[in-house]
Amino acid sequence: MYITPRPNVVMTRGDGAWLWDEDGRRYLDFVQGWAVNCLGHAPDVVRDTLASQAGRLITPSPAYHNRPQIEFAARLCEESGLDRVFFCNSGAEANEGAIKLARKWGLEKRDGAGEIITLTGAFHGRTLVTMAATDKPGWDSLFGPAMPGFRRVEFGDLDAIKAAIGKDTVAVMLEPIQGEAGVVTPEDDFLPALRKLTRECGVLLILDEIQTGMGRTGPLFAHRHWNLEPDIMTLGKGIGAGVPLAALLASEAVSCFEAGDQGGTYNGNPLMTAVGLAVLETLCDPKFVEHAKHVSECLIAGLDELAAGFEGMGVRGLGHLLAITLPKPCSKSIAARCFDAGLLINAPRPNVLRFMPALTTLEEEVVEMLAILRPIVVDEINR
Ligand code: PLP
Repeated sequence: MYITPRPNVVMTRGDGAWLWDEDGRRYLDFVQGWAVNCLGHAPDVVRDTLASQAGRLITPSPAYHNRPQIEFAARLCEESGLDRVFFCNSGAEANEGAIKLARKWGLEKRDGAGEIITLTGAFHGRTLVTMAATDKPGWDSLFGPAMPGFRRVEFGDLDAIKAAIGKDTVAVMLEPIQGEAGVVTPEDDFLPALRKLTRECGVLLILDEIQTGMGRTGPLFAHRHWNLEPDIMTLGKGIGAGVPLAALLASEAVSCFEAGDQGGTYNGNPLMTAVGLAVLETLCDPKFVEHAKHVSECLIAGLDELAAGFEGMGVRGLGHLLAITLPKPCSKSIAARCFDAGLLINAPRPNVLRFMPALTTLEEEVVEMLAILRPIVVDEINR
């Protein structure tokens, strides 16, 4: 089925920051499957873990415990401070689970409250319910009737959220940094104040860290920038470094699922959770963290230098989730020209370019990327 416009090439091979098409042309990849391949293309650790786990046990069924799932869940709880994990296959599925869990908690603990506040610019997925939680123009009527139970409030506006919280509200759900909206970072005091507000009002704070988690913005979870803990958190993308894996985490107090409430044929299968565990160990290695920090600083410095040359151009984001804002709506044509020049970058908004390289990207690859990008940006802006 037709789901997206695609260039007329077939990708065959990847290695680190590089992708090759069938004609042998190579591309420097600063999109990495939309922030999925945190370790780059075809990392050894994923290949080796898949091979050894596939030879041992792939799917015993969620009706039985398996060792990689137990170990990975324990490590995620240790790292996040949360208590319970449900593994699934995609970010949208993790968010569906988060919404179900919050609503069940609302039924039991908040007089049946089930409404969830989500924010302008939010992206939470493409299932019917996560589309209703998402703020994309036209999505409310695309597959109507729209799913009820969501209320939209301006991102970053604490007073408006406070005013919107009522007896029917069970949770506020948001991305700590909005990825699809073009890497929108909140004011520094917003998230701590929101954490305080949700506690005072007795509603849950759900953080969608599907794009921002797993070291993408620096610390393992983006909410660490603000030193707070959510009640519920969802992870996806980088958690599997390219294989389909996602997770829903929650505190003990909120984890009210009973047998039969939640599940799925593949949830917690050892093939994927073994990869998740190996990826997490890699991401937590201090040498890896140091390398990622250094390369992120190089990338930010390079983008800052590029932006400094133009009125109305700026850099935003953290770690390896970065964007430049452009003084005119030319991001799509810049991305298309970069593609022709062998560079993959993303244009989430008409005036925003987004950079989501692998955390393993090398400094010289950042230099190479900037060398391709700079003349194209300069030319497009001066047109
Ligand atoms: N939430 C956020 C913040 C995302 O960025 C995405 C995907 O881009 C999703 C949810 C949906 O994840 P998936 O595409 O794995 O369903």
